[in-house]
Amino acid sequence: MTTRVERAPLAVLGGRPTFREPRHVGAPNVPPAGALERRLAGALRRRRLTNDGPLVQEFEAAVSRRLGVRHCIATCNATSGLMVLARALELSGEVIMPSFTFPGTAHAMRWLGLQPIFCDVDRASHTLDAATVAEAIGERTSAILGVHVWGRPCDTEALGDIAGRHGVELIFDAAPAFDCGRHGVKIGNHGRAEVVSFHATKVLNTFEGGAILTNDDELAERIRPMITFGFVDEDVVVGLGINAKMSEAAAAMGLAQLEQLPATIATNRAHHTRYRARLEELPGVAVVDYPNAAEANFHYVVLEIEPDVAPIDRDMLKRVLEAERVLARRYFFPGCHRMAPYAAERSTAGELPITEWLAARVLQLPTGTALAAEDVEAICTLVSRAFEDAELLRASLS
Ligand SMILES: *Cc1c(COP(=O)(O)O)cnc(C)c1O
Repeated sequence: MTTRVERAPLAVLGGRPTFREPRHVGAPNVPPAGALERRLAGALRRRRLTNDGPLVQEFEAAVSRRLGVRHCIATCNATSGLMVLARALELSGEVIMPSFTFPGTAHAMRWLGLQPIFCDVDRASHTLDAATVAEAIGERTSAILGVHVWGRPCDTEALGDIAGRHGVELIFDAAPAFDCGRHGVKIGNHGRAEVVSFHATKVLNTFEGGAILTNDDELAERIRPMITFGFVDEDVVVGLGINAKMSEAAAAMGLAQLEQLPATIATNRAHHTRYRARLEELPGVAVVDYPNAAEANFHYVVLEIEPDVAPIDRDMLKRVLEAERVLARRYFFPGCHRMAPYAAERSTAGELPITEWLAARVLQLPTGTALAAEDVEAICTLVSRAFEDAELLRASLS
């Protein structure tokens, strides 16, 4: 007879939580001590805190160089960047976008009085399905707004063909996709322009921040004054503008983090590899992959949990992890089309079966430099334990 080693129960069943401090999705990556402070001290010495200061200029140049894009216009966040871009392109009427995205994508357009029209996404890539986009284009469509979900770029060629054929703009919410690429071309170079986020939860952060990236000289020239009240010179305002500038403190953080970006991505990649190896052995679990490793930032660990195959469903797993202080997230549940204000508007282009399918299955796990390799192992062990104890969990929690 084999003796079974008694294990402590899962925390959700009364055991002690695995982690004392919560493990968050999107825990910030931070630069080494000194790299930020040194630059901030310079800003204080110069008494130059904002308004296109030397650190913002240095950061913009460094980002442009890294991505191989002609223009980087740093902003206070990606949402403002998207709004300024939409204004600069004089978008009107309807903008086609996925529902399977962060609500900020839709809000940025809706805030300007534009109507988001939600299309379905592709089952494999989780990004806009070009076929449904083509069907949704109508009289009032002025733009297609693709989102590089999980940093995996949209089918930029197919969307470009559709936009060209119908004479509408093509822009991208590249918020999660800094340093990612497609077929050897980094994000920032697709469509008319792309907007990246440097929010605290992103692969590279400036506390809060973003950037509009474009190779269109004329567009960049139009956007520059728009982020600073329309000013082009002292007392000279050339048009409607807003305040969407990046501060020197934010740029200092960005420069400090750029230095360690390769190391950050290497850590993300190691975590992702470890998660995949352990979790894909489990029934009904798929870990979203990055087929072209050289062009990915590996910043997102996303599971798809198949309810009829996995012994417990996504929501129960989330509950089990939460009790262990692993704060997994259901991004992008339930989809923008099921959130206010869009749920009450005529905002979808037909049914969104893949979006609904994904929203019922995805679960995002913590990763990034805040997490140690042992933490990843411990989280994987917890998921395995939850699957092993499925019957007990169902009996106790349902
Ligand atoms: C993070 C994110 C945003 C918002 O970016 P901010 O810089 O916080 O404004 C918008 N869209 C997507 C897809 C995002 O992931």
